Amino acid sequence: MSVAELKTKLKQVESEAVAALARAQSSQQLEELRLEFLGQKGTLTTVLRGLGLLSKEERPQVGELANLVKERIVNALSARLNELYQIELNQRLAAEAIDITLPGSGHSLGHVHPLTAVTTEITNIFYGMGFTLAEGPELETEYYNFDALNTPPDHPARDEQDTFYTSAGPQVVLRSQTSTVQIRVMEKQKPPVRIISPGRVYRNEEVNARKYPLFHQFEGLLIDRNVTFGQLKGCLNEFIRLFFGKQLKTRFRPDFFPFTEPSAELDSQCPFCLGSGCKTCGHRGWLELLGCGMVDPNVLNGVGIDPEEWSGFAFGMGIDRLTMLKYGVNDIRHFFSSDLRFLQQF
Ligand SMILES: [Zn+2]
Repeated sequence: MSVAELKTKLKQVESEAVAALARAQSSQQLEELRLEFLGQKGTLTTVLRGLGLLSKEERPQVGELANLVKERIVNALSARLNELYQIELNQRLAAEAIDITLPGSGHSLGHVHPLTAVTTEITNIFYGMGFTLAEGPELETEYYNFDALNTPPDHPARDEQDTFYTSAGPQVVLRSQTSTVQIRVMEKQKPPVRIISPGRVYRNEEVNARKYPLFHQFEGLLIDRNVTFGQLKGCLNEFIRLFFGKQLKTRFRPDFFPFTEPSAELDSQCPFCLGSGCKTCGHRGWLELLGCGMVDPNVLNGVGIDPEEWSGFAFGMGIDRLTMLKYGVNDIRHFFSSDLRFLQQF
């Protein structure tokens, strides 16, 4: 090829390359074009090989143009690469755009079971009166569940119809009351004693809206010198006031429990109708809330505490019943159904 032909060819390659690069739509296409024009077997490279056939005098005439053409193609390539980078970046940003005005998809926090909430509430009220927490096992011996609590062998509560006997060992039962903890504490701790003990208890009962074989009790025990029934009344009246958030009349009706003497059932004025009668209180105006009494001297003797020196009171209440009253729940089985439609209402 002559000098003139080579120069024409170079200009042709340049215009082809610049036009092709301007049309490229992706960095991938640009790379292909780079190989097509500047690669070892590329168009420009092929033309440049023709330079070797020129004479020494002719070579610089074309060489200068050749370098210029190569430089322009490289510049065009790099300019288009920048443009495409910006375009691709903008496309990616648009595709991944976050609409900060959309509501978030946060995880909802759970909450404690209503029975747990009420247990905590009752516990805190008695903490305020100087009681401390004591816990005991749910699997108990007949001794702690009955004998130590002054319950004679022929007492109906000991019947298999009422109590769950187990094969875990001889005379091992599922505790039917939290009063077992009283004995365990008094065996270890010398008076004065002031404890509360919430927990699960079990009774072999028919299931209905008010009864379930598993339920929850809250036990309280106070042992000190010169404890009176008046102090028991004062303590429980204060509890009723704080739990229902209002001053309610209470009455103590004589009752019987093997481990207290005298024993009483505490009724409170209905917190919903204030005594005038409503559905919750069965139109009686009063609610039976808990059992209580002065600790029987036999129980104190049994754990080596001298009843001449020490006396005390104890009380026990059903946590499930108090929770049902507090939240207007009409069926105890809801507490154990794990039905979210029920639980999410609290
Ligand atoms: Zn009422």
